[in-house]
Amino acid sequence: MLCILSGGTGTPKLLTGISGNYGVVVNTGEDLWISGVYVSPDLDTVVYTLAGMVDDSRWYGQKEDTYFCHEMMKALGHTELLRIGDKDRGLKLFRTLLMKKGVPLSQVTQRVLKALTVKVPVFPMSDDKVTTRIHTEREVLTFHEFWVARRAQVAVTGVEYEGIETARPVGEALDLMKESEAILVGPSNPVTSIGPIMGMKAYRNILQKKVVVGISPMVGDAPFSGPTATLMRGLGIETTCVGVARMYQDFLDIFIIHETDSVYKPVLEDMGLTVYVEDILLDSPEKKKALWRVLEGIV
Ligand code: GDP
Repeated sequence: MLCILSGGTGTPKLLTGISGNYGVVVNTGEDLWISGVYVSPDLDTVVYTLAGMVDDSRWYGQKEDTYFCHEMMKALGHTELLRIGDKDRGLKLFRTLLMKKGVPLSQVTQRVLKALTVKVPVFPMSDDKVTTRIHTEREVLTFHEFWVARRAQVAVTGVEYEGIETARPVGEALDLMKESEAILVGPSNPVTSIGPIMGMKAYRNILQKKVVVGISPMVGDAPFSGPTATLMRGLGIETTCVGVARMYQDFLDIFIIHETDSVYKPVLEDMGLTVYVEDILLDSPEKKKALWRVLEGIV
């Protein structure tokens, strides 16, 4: 069994069309309430990906969704930070109704997985609320205020994971990690997607004891997509695969970097890592399968 740590874009790309003996622990630091429904963006993307329903042009929401509800509310003067599709809102509403009855997020997720006939075990990292807050020179923002409303056009001065000290890990997620032969830190944003998971002591303790493989989310001095570099720069971290490896240094054993990044191999090896140089741009089913085969050869 392989335990995969995931955010909501890079790692789900790797999971598309891949069936294997693995389970996924997903970041919930970007969870938020919108128009009365509980939105768990990374969790929903992972679930939709495994159910073959994800909108893979955005890695957010369901494919072929409609937006009647969103547009109607907009016409009435109610704006939403994220555009939520009608079918997607149906899932979120279902979850919210159960959560309001006291069913924890992780248990609602099991019901959703069963209904969508997803066999892969997927767990949110915690049922307790953890909120990633991006500090800038002028204000403190949630991830989506930073990324969607400000388009990451602000100078980041720090990142905080509010609630992380008291958040309890989901028991099944902890067991999955403990029982797995290896843990894969997927190609996700190390600050906002992996940061909250590795920030929880219970997970970090297991990461330190296991064989941990990472896939770089960087190519040269930039990420493949998204605001990863803006966040890393704000924390004073080099915006390359080396910077990412430093963030994972106390538990990472093996690191897979992009083929054009081989210049960084010696530095990474000096850090004690075993380095694989591969094509990690996940833009076709063939490449995803090829990278998966590399992984199977390692773990
Ligand atoms: P978020 O929750 O939507 O921020 O998504 P993730 O954290 O899971 O994914 C964002 C990260 O995925 C960024 O750092 C990207 O550089 C990385 N990423 C996106 N596409 C690819 C890809 O094709 N290959 C690799 N290796 N990383 C990617």
